[in-house]
Amino acid sequence: MRPPSVDKLARSLADTGLPHPLLVEAARAAIEAGDPARARAEAEQIRVGLLRPVVNATGVLLHTNLGRAPWPHQDAGGYSNLEFDLSSGKRGSRRVHAGDLLARACGAEAALVLNNCASAVMLALAALGHGCGVAVSRGELVEIGGAFRVPDVMAQSGANLIEVGTTNRTRRADYERAVADPNADLALVLKVHQSNYRIIGFTEDVPAPDLVGIGVPVLADIGSGLLDSRCPWLPGEPPTWLDGEPAARQTLESGVDLVMFSGDKLLGGPQAGIIAGSAELVDRCAAHPLARALRPGGLVLGALQDLAMAYLGRDLDRLPFWQMVNRSVPELRARAEALGVGRPIDTMAVPGGGTLPGIDFPSYGVAMDGDHTQALRRAELPIIARVEDDMTICDLRTVDPAHDHLLTTALGALG
Ligand SMILES: *Cc1c(COP(=O)(O)O)cnc(C)c1O
Repeated sequence: MRPPSVDKLARSLADTGLPHPLLVEAARAAIEAGDPARARAEAEQIRVGLLRPVVNATGVLLHTNLGRAPWPHQDAGGYSNLEFDLSSGKRGSRRVHAGDLLARACGAEAALVLNNCASAVMLALAALGHGCGVAVSRGELVEIGGAFRVPDVMAQSGANLIEVGTTNRTRRADYERAVADPNADLALVLKVHQSNYRIIGFTEDVPAPDLVGIGVPVLADIGSGLLDSRCPWLPGEPPTWLDGEPAARQTLESGVDLVMFSGDKLLGGPQAGIIAGSAELVDRCAAHPLARALRPGGLVLGALQDLAMAYLGRDLDRLPFWQMVNRSVPELRARAEALGVGRPIDTMAVPGGGTLPGIDFPSYGVAMDGDHTQALRRAELPIIARVEDDMTICDLRTVDPAHDHLLTTALGALG
């Protein structure tokens, strides 16, 4: 029997909704493998690989593989005043909407939005430290999330790393020696938050505020993007698990010159990086040629503007990450019982996203015997669950209540 024509086979898959060139690829792969009947599975494979929304039932609030923080996204995709000043009718700046509002939300003179925190650190070092020394504690020469290694970022920026202190103990006097050393030609001190690890035991380090006034600008990579340690957007007291997490507002209030942080960790927005603080230093960062290479587009700036407005309005309803954090266990338990499928079970949710190691908080979910994660991933809106002790667990803390019915349907279908 002659194999079917690639084109004919591709056309027979039109109901998958994929564009024709992708169907041709699927058909060709199946025919080349000598199994034309596999074409539909090949097409399905392509469809499953597409970027799309999922339900996060893992209980990991900032799940690195699921895009970290959830954020509402409602860009109409039309033209915008990205760089157009509506009052004067002249060219405007993309720094004025999201950047200025975020600066206001954390009490900074100015802020600049980049692609991620790695870009923010890289740009700040390149713009303010190129060809000069930048002092970093040996306890902070870290790797955060795969390829972000402080010594490598430093090298790429053109700044010279001046290591101070030891792995477990660094004192202010160590930094002072680097400032005084003419060979170091120090331009900056950089503090890097120990986001995803802790050094315990015989340790000492200098919080960024204690370095203020040392003679060169102090920069703090706080990573997580907590805007304000008092969490005025939450009812009641700030959660105790935030103790010790540096916040942008308080760090700047203490006199630190610049903070850098991620948009998609505790800030709860899209992937972005923010440099906030002294207007003079932020302007120097913005004027560096790398700033253009590292800048985000209107889609991300629009989402960050919405987020900044929600923070300024203390509008918890528009801060999905903090809503998840704020849900009470009884509320989660009631939802678990109302699902009508699986066994309600208490669980532990974790912050995730390379933040707050060792922290977990009580949560509630449902359990089913056996590993059903593959079937759940195949749901119309894929559901990502976790397996523990040969049970499939769906943690409700990370699930939008509007999606509970999807869990009922998908878990119910497991039989
Ligand atoms: C997460 C983190 C980064 C990297 O942030 P991205 O936004 O993922 O680039 C850098 N520094 C610290 C301290 C972090 O916690």
